[in-house]
Amino acid sequence: MGFENIIGHEKPKNLLRMFLEHKNIPHAFLFYGQEGIGKKLIAKEFIKYLFCETASACGECRPCKKIQGGNHPDLITIEGEDSIGIDQSRMLSKEIYEYPYESEKRAIILDRAERLTHEAANALLKTLEEPPPFNHFFLITSAEQEVPLTIRSRCTRVFFTPLVREQLKQFFLMKTDADEERADLLARISYGSIGCGLFWIEEEHLLLRRMIAELVAGKNRSFVNASLIAEKIAKTNSGFSIYLAFLLSLFRDMLVVKYSQDFTKIVNRDLEGVLDWQIIDIQWVENTIKRIQETMRIMRYNVNRWLVFENLLFHVMR
Ligand SMILES: [Zn+2]
Repeated sequence: MGFENIIGHEKPKNLLRMFLEHKNIPHAFLFYGQEGIGKKLIAKEFIKYLFCETASACGECRPCKKIQGGNHPDLITIEGEDSIGIDQSRMLSKEIYEYPYESEKRAIILDRAERLTHEAANALLKTLEEPPPFNHFFLITSAEQEVPLTIRSRCTRVFFTPLVREQLKQFFLMKTDADEERADLLARISYGSIGCGLFWIEEEHLLLRRMIAELVAGKNRSFVNASLIAEKIAKTNSGFSIYLAFLLSLFRDMLVVKYSQDFTKIVNRDLEGVLDWQIIDIQWVENTIKRIQETMRIMRYNVNRWLVFENLLFHVMR
């Protein structure tokens, strides 16, 4: 159990092991790096080492099981769905002065730390400046630059890189029903993120992905069809950004083929037969890539996802 069970991320794991060995645990960590690559998983595993009865993240003792089950009273997790507001921050500032209930320590995970509002960040800052010694904060973010510098500068930074294809393939072979071929495909289209690969395990997600590719290729081309696809995608919530990443990778594949004529370099190999590679217009591809990137940017704000994706699809089907 413990870190041995988690594929990849050797650098962050070694750094964290060092803190454990020296029994010198910083009061605030900033875990940063691409979305969905396992930052929170590692944070939770690290917290197991802190709370475990044998300090080994054994997974068997009461504290380990409680952390795994999400019901350890000394582990507070705050997830920034829309924003992390002042109320949550004030509640936290009060709570951390209380002694932990069951453990000698308390761990606080602030997921999507970039969503801290200005007031919440200020309230948190005071706590980070003079924290009661038994608290350990884990700020997790995929948008490090958006976390206020005053907060960042008080944290020990731990950088996470995306997993490489071979590590991902190994994961899907070991932890899912995927066979060799499917694991290879999942590793290719998961953009370094296990979470993203797990999303594509669902047959209906793959089907929708294919429908988008067909639309791009000019098949079943109608506004009604595009609108229906956009509606389905809008309903997938977190899947939205994955479909955008897919669309981006599909257009990047077109660029790669156009410039190198090398089909082995394309990411979406299973869709090779869907596209007509002869008629790719570079100007259109480059414009569309810009447009997809722009859509990714505005998706961070509270917008109507259906309309936004519909607009994008109308553009890509020309
Ligand atoms: Zn344990």
